[in-house]
Amino acid sequence: MKASQQTPVVRQPVSVRLTLRARNCSRRQSRASCTCNNDTLPPAAESGRRRRELLTRRRVLHNFAACALCSQLLPPPSVQATEWSYLDPRSWAESSPTCGLGNMQSPIALSLEDAEQTNSGAAALTFQYGGRRPACVRDSGHGTMQVHFVGSQAPLLLVGSQQFQMQQFHFHAPSEHSLDGTRSAMEVHMVHRDTYSGQLLVVATLVRDRKAAQPNPALTAALQYVPRRKDGAGDDSSRESVDIPDGVDASWLLPKLHGVYMYSGSLTTPPCAESVMWCVHDATIEVPPQQVLAFSKQFGSNARPLQARNGRRLTYRLI
Ligand SMILES: [Zn+2]
Repeated sequence: MKASQQTPVVRQPVSVRLTLRARNCSRRQSRASCTCNNDTLPPAAESGRRRRELLTRRRVLHNFAACALCSQLLPPPSVQATEWSYLDPRSWAESSPTCGLGNMQSPIALSLEDAEQTNSGAAALTFQYGGRRPACVRDSGHGTMQVHFVGSQAPLLLVGSQQFQMQQFHFHAPSEHSLDGTRSAMEVHMVHRDTYSGQLLVVATLVRDRKAAQPNPALTAALQYVPRRKDGAGDDSSRESVDIPDGVDASWLLPKLHGVYMYSGSLTTPPCAESVMWCVHDATIEVPPQQVLAFSKQFGSNARPLQARNGRRLTYRLI
């Protein structure tokens, strides 16, 4: 998961939120199409923009909320930019000491034989992900793309009576966690926050590549609409957020529910804060190799090496 998840979310009352315009959107643009940063869309996205403009007549408020919220959620690229890369993850500790000194770091190796089974007495997990939700996508600037949801319409995860709201999901290639000694082609992190305490919970699904697999529609949408870099890493305009016209159904990222590993860990990117409850599915989803290639071609390799477990409790439960 990304460091930007640590950025405090500025929560605005709904009535205020709906009066805000997206950054770089004029009042006319906001009311007419509410497409974040229309002027920065590359030519390839023009047809998508025209389609959005036709659809928004009946979805003005819907899109307006998405646009405004993305604008608030995502700090400007200049604020987010920090100097680190996947070329040398050990160097992260120079600017973020927890990455090197922490003893509850992620990702870790997962296997059933190392886990404590907690099928009875554990809080029930209820995924309320179904249905397309308003979403936008952007290049994180650190080797992945993030799909953000509108707060009030975001997918929910209930852990017993605790309610977690999904803020965003993003991808890694190859996977960060290993399962029974194997890393998969990709991994998706669905980042949730407790709506009351602010506790972070990340649901992870490992992704396998298989020739006969159907393209995953969530990955398809993200790849289709994420802004392309024109001038390399220095092109900040590529990090603007763009609406995904028909939204995203987060359940596309869930495997057939079987079991999950849970443990206490960290962000897998600087500042590596040890404030994350991890929930990793033991089942995978599949995508065709072309989708893995399309992601890797644009973002490269973005997986942190496995970290020591240091005696942490690892539980497994059927769901
Ligand atoms: Zn991640």
